[in-house]
Amino acid sequence: MSTIGRSAPAGREGDSADRGDDSATGAEGDSTAGPRGVTAAGHKPGLPARQSGVGTRREVGTCRHTGLASGRQAEVAAGQAVVEAWLAEHGDELIGWRRHIHAHPELSRAEHATTEFVESWLVKAGLEPRKLPTGTGLICDIGPAGPRIALRADMDALPLQEYTGRPFASTVPGVSHACGHDAHTSILLGTALALAELESLPVGVRLVFQHAEEVMPGGAIDMVAAGAMDDVSRVFALHCDPRLEVGRIGVRVGAITSAADTVELVLDSPGGHTSRPHLTSDLVYAIGTVITGLPGLLSRRIDPRTSTVMVWGAVSAGKAPNAIPQTGMLTGTVRTGDHATWSLLEPMVREIVDGLLAPTGVRYQLNYKRGVPPVVNDEFSTRMFEDAILALGPDALSDTPQSGGGEDFSWYLEEVPGAMARLGVWSGEGPQLDIHQPTFDIDERALAAGVRVLTNLVLQAR
Ligand SMILES: [Zn+2]
Ligand SMILES: [Zn+2]
Repeated sequence: MSTIGRSAPAGREGDSADRGDDSATGAEGDSTAGPRGVTAAGHKPGLPARQSGVGTRREVGTCRHTGLASGRQAEVAAGQAVVEAWLAEHGDELIGWRRHIHAHPELSRAEHATTEFVESWLVKAGLEPRKLPTGTGLICDIGPAGPRIALRADMDALPLQEYTGRPFASTVPGVSHACGHDAHTSILLGTALALAELESLPVGVRLVFQHAEEVMPGGAIDMVAAGAMDDVSRVFALHCDPRLEVGRIGVRVGAITSAADTVELVLDSPGGHTSRPHLTSDLVYAIGTVITGLPGLLSRRIDPRTSTVMVWGAVSAGKAPNAIPQTGMLTGTVRTGDHATWSLLEPMVREIVDGLLAPTGVRYQLNYKRGVPPVVNDEFSTRMFEDAILALGPDALSDTPQSGGGEDFSWYLEEVPGAMARLGVWSGEGPQLDIHQPTFDIDERALAAGVRVLTNLVLQAR
């Protein structure tokens, strides 16, 4: 939309400059080809030829899963044409937003500039965003009132030094967008501005630009408290996935991430001489029983099909070989892929630790921090996602495994049904770097693919 007349963000200057140094991956050199190469009629994501063999179950543009009425097909196609026109005109801008946000990352609950950046573009598009009172995170409604579809992006960066060497790499020492939240934010902003071009929407939309996904308690809890899920019927989100090739998007029904809780055990004893353990409480021996006993007993109390795993990450106690120490500490994580199991974990961990330590006489304090529940994709919402993805082309849809990681998107799903999908960001060349790695980067053609999927969710919604 030409009326969105804000001057180009700083990151855009990198467009031409970095083409030359990306030959190793081909990522940036191709990055603008996707948006420019798309035709309004075909909605082709501009993918490498090697992508094939997945998602060929249905024809492009059909909506068999969720039963879109045939009379709506023409409306959907007209809406998609508007989105394609927006991408053709603003595809470079979309990439520029991502590069600007990428170059200026902000840590969790400090996303003031990112929030203001998003807010300014939404306001220029004639929308009315509402910032949270803290100044980080915002909500913006588009389209008719009534039950809305919510689309969520997270905006925070990680306390990690970036080593991508890109011209638009982080300008903030020790902070970088190594989880792709810069891409999520840009995609949702592009989705907003493309939807704002439409004369009407089939359903009301709520944009949720969330702060603080990377910390616990996460920003999703704040957003829900601020009413982000009020009058919302379903909520959707994308997350970058470097294991998937650009242009492909993966979904699955059921759990797509895992719950992750933290266990911290602080122990104390009177201490004493190692020659006389019977006169004191042997703290190191007690720690040993918990180190092996808790993971072992959990594995015997919980159904192994729930993918529940308890792993210690740190242990400390004592210094001298002949002295029983007075204090010790043990900390680790408990993860599960099953929502019902997540509810059982804390009392079970407390019961087992007590049972293991009681005979030793060692005193302890157990600090159990519940993290996030698993993201469990609702079936109908997942089918909506599949239809939205298939509209990009028959090869766009992919399966995806459940991750052992946590995502605070799950807090929205405690309120309303919804689904999260994995957005392919691997260029198809070079190593598949993981998120949270200092060299993590994306093929920016994923940005246009993300806008297409999110806008399709709205256009095809009933
Ligand atoms: Zn992350
Ligand atoms: Zn993330």
